[in-house]
Formats: sequence, C-alpha cells, structure tokens
Amino acid sequence: MNVLKFGGTSVGTVESLKNVRSIVETLPPDTVVVVSALGGLTDKLIATAHLAANGGDWKSEADAIAQRHYDIINKLVREENKTNVLTIVDSLLEELRRTYEGVSLIGHLPEKTLNVIVSLGERMSAPIVAGIIQNGHLHNSLDFIKTEKWFDKNIADVSLTHNLILHEFSNIQEGPHITGGFISQDRDSGEITNLGRGGSDYTAALIAAALDADMLDIWTDVDGFMTADPRIIKDAKVLPEMSFIESMELCSFGAKVIYPPTIYPVFHKSIPIRILNTFNPKAPGTFISDSSNSNDYPIKGVTAIKNTCLVKLKGCLTENVAQINTRAYNALARNGISVFLLAQPGENHEFSFAISSSDLSNATRVLNEEFAPELIDGALDSISFEENLSTIAVVGEGIKHLKGINGRILNTLLRNGIRPLASSEGTSDTTVSFVVEEKDTVESIKAIHGLFF
Ligand code: ADP
Ligand code: ASP
Ligand code: MG
Repeated sequence: MNVLKFGGTSVGTVESLKNVRSIVETLPPDTVVVVSALGGLTDKLIATAHLAANGGDWKSEADAIAQRHYDIINKLVREENKTNVLTIVDSLLEELRRTYEGVSLIGHLPEKTLNVIVSLGERMSAPIVAGIIQNGHLHNSLDFIKTEKWFDKNIADVSLTHNLILHEFSNIQEGPHITGGFISQDRDSGEITNLGRGGSDYTAALIAAALDADMLDIWTDVDGFMTADPRIIKDAKVLPEMSFIESMELCSFGAKVIYPPTIYPVFHKSIPIRILNTFNPKAPGTFISDSSNSNDYPIKGVTAIKNTCLVKLKGCLTENVAQINTRAYNALARNGISVFLLAQPGENHEFSFAISSSDLSNATRVLNEEFAPELIDGALDSISFEENLSTIAVVGEGIKHLKGINGRILNTLLRNGIRPLASSEGTSDTTVSFVVEEKDTVESIKAIHGLFF
C-alpha cells in the first residue's frame, strides 16, 4: 500500500482538489491520504490570532476563512456527505470564533491557544477532502499522532504513535483513508500540539513507516526535487533521483520541499519517497531511495538556511581545540540545540560553529555555564555571537570524489564579491557548507548553482 500526502497548494482551490480527487480515486482502497490545511490557511490563522490579540478586526477575517471552506464544500463535496461535512466544519468554525473572541478579550495569545487555532486548518481540510473522494474514510490524527515535551519543543513520541497507527489502520478495508497532517496531541496532558510548520510530511512518514508502506508519495506544486529553490533559480533542474542521505542533508539545510524529520522514519524502513506534482501528475517526479545514480549528478543541489548565528570561542585553544569543540557541541546537544556547521579553526585562536538564531539565548546561557571555569581562569577569553547570517550548503554523494571543491566554491563566492565568514571543517561525505552574511544569500546560491549546473 502507498501513503500519499497532499500539501496546502494541492488542497487550496476547487481546481487543485479536482486533481487530488482524480489522483486518489484510481488508487487501491487501502491507500492512506494525508492532507494539509488549505493553502495559506495556517499563515492566515496565525495572523488573525495576532490581530485578535492586538484588538484588530478578527471577525471579518474569520468570515473569509469560513467562506473559503463553504465554497469548496458546496462545489465539491459529494451530495451524500454534505450534511455530515457541514456539521463538522460548522462546529470547528464555531470553535475558531470562540477562541479568537477569547484571545481578543484577554489581549494575549498563549502558545497553547495558538496551537488550538492552527490545528483547525487540518481539522477542517481532512473531513472536506474525505467528503470529496468516493468512499473516503476519515481518520482523526489526534487519536494516533502523539507528542511529548522535549525542552521547549513538542516532538513525536514515535513508539506510542507507531502502536496507535497500527491500531487505527488495522483491518482497513473500504477506503481510501484520509487524515489531517501536522496536528498532534500531547500524550500526557491531552492538549493539542503540532509537529512544526510543514509537519504534514512527517505525519505521512510516520504512518508509512508504521504500516510498512511500499511508497511515500509527497504531492506538491513542483515537478520534483530541484537543484535549488525554483523561486530563487528560475532554471533549476528537476532531479530524477537522489538518496535518502542527500535529501536529508538538503532538507535540513533549508530545501523546503520536504520537512526534515520526515525522511528518517521511511529511510529506516527503506520505503522510497516520490516527490510528485499535483498540477502535472504525469511528470515522473523525483525518486528518493537507498541508492542514487550519482554519476548523472554528483552534486544534487545548493540550498540555504537563513537565521544563522555564528558562535565564536576565543582564547589560547591551540592545545585542546578538539576537547573544547566536543564539550561545546555536547553541552548544546544536551540542551536540545543543534549545531549545523563546525567551522575550520581560524586565525587568532578562535573557533566557531553555526546554530539557528532562535537558539541564541539558550546557547549563550549553556556555553557560559559549561565554560565558566575557563572564562574565570583565562583559558578562554570570550564567547561571542554574530547574527544575521546564512548557511549555504552544497550537497551530493559525489562530492567526496570532487577534488578541491571547497576552493572552487570559495573562489566563486569571492569573485562575486561575497566573503564567507566560516566554512565547514573538512569535507563531509555529502555536504560542504559556508556561512555568509544573510544579505548575500541569494547571490551566493546563484553563484554556486551557476558553477555546478
Ligand atoms: P507543500 O505545501 O506541498 O508542502 P511546500 O511549499 O512546503 O509545499 O514545498 C514545496 C516548495 O518548496 C516549492 O514550491 C518550492 O518553492 C520550494 N522549494 C525549495 N527548495 C526546493 C527544491 N530544491 N526543489 C523543489 N522545491 C523547492
Ligand atoms: N499546514 C501546516 C503548515 O502550513 C502543515 C503543512 O502544511 O505541512 O505549516
Ligand atoms: Mg511542505
């Protein structure tokens, strides 16, 4: 059996939903379909929540949200399902209005309330899509996607979720089976949580892995995984195939096409992923599996993460750089902060690594605690941070065979007037990365893409 996931643009309009319907209705009845909220709705729900908290006119926004859903229901939901779907969506819209009203009254938007508000996108889209598809069976993902607290984040409780998915989808016969992505429930408090922005991909992967699916199909709005973000590089090429590792690296370095945690559960079970276009279903898409034909494309793509922050440790570190490196890395990891680039030690006894700016205040606290003795006795002069940066990554399993690749990239950037502030230590098997100023992100991607493609 296959698990399919349709993103926001795929379920955003009457026209795109007709494509979804014709794709899904030809598939066997044990197919599981994961859907996102209507395109752009999650952003709208969040913006309206802030508007309500700031005393703005949330009511007309809520009316527009309601109208968008009613239009689709009236035009596409099958006659026999209309009453049922309208009952569900009416009550969810009522919940949305009540919640906005509450936010507006207290003039404040607690995180838990925002989680409830954003969940309504997928809680409405799933019954609508189920109502559009012949024999569509609705499953409530809050019943089986469970999270636990991990520092300040909610992360999937993978083993509990695995068991609940098996239970939910055991003995499924008639179908297809439709469920909402992204949304989840805290396993202890029962509160509504979510898997993070873009998290519907991850819901689909958790289901595919638990059910030992043959394939995970991610249906989106581009012809496949491309050599760069097509919004930045107009002539970016569609890659026919790539390996799990390559897709994991590209996505964790910012390629938005798949939400990064998605790949691990299916990789672990060797379930291939296809990236397919809802608006061009005949296109072959990209096939992601254990192996990839790196001869065609030794390098698969160039990508960037904005909001990078460079942490710099300065002092007489020549003797024990490795030890300091490891301690810093471990202290951050123990506190849920990931490091995405360890820089080559620079001059002036300084070494640095890149983290996300959103982790900056936590990282400051953690590192000052970890290195308090060294800061006092002078072994370390200072811990400082540089913000407004981007990490640019070049990814491909063929990279290890390309001699002097760091130098070629560096020269290309310099020729384009871009000065990298740090580069990754050595060359990993698949990825070379550089830190540049955030304002140079697009130019850097263009220059490097031009070099390789
Ligand atoms: P969905 O709503 O279907 O989940 P997303 O917007 O999350 O879609 O992801 C698809 C988008 O990812 C594309 O429209 C494209 O703009 C962007 N993107 C970024 N990098 C890449 C890449 N390397 N290949 C393809 N698409 C990319
Ligand atoms: N609707 C959610 C978002 O916009 C989840 C998703 O689309 O994957 O982030
Ligand atoms: Mg997405």
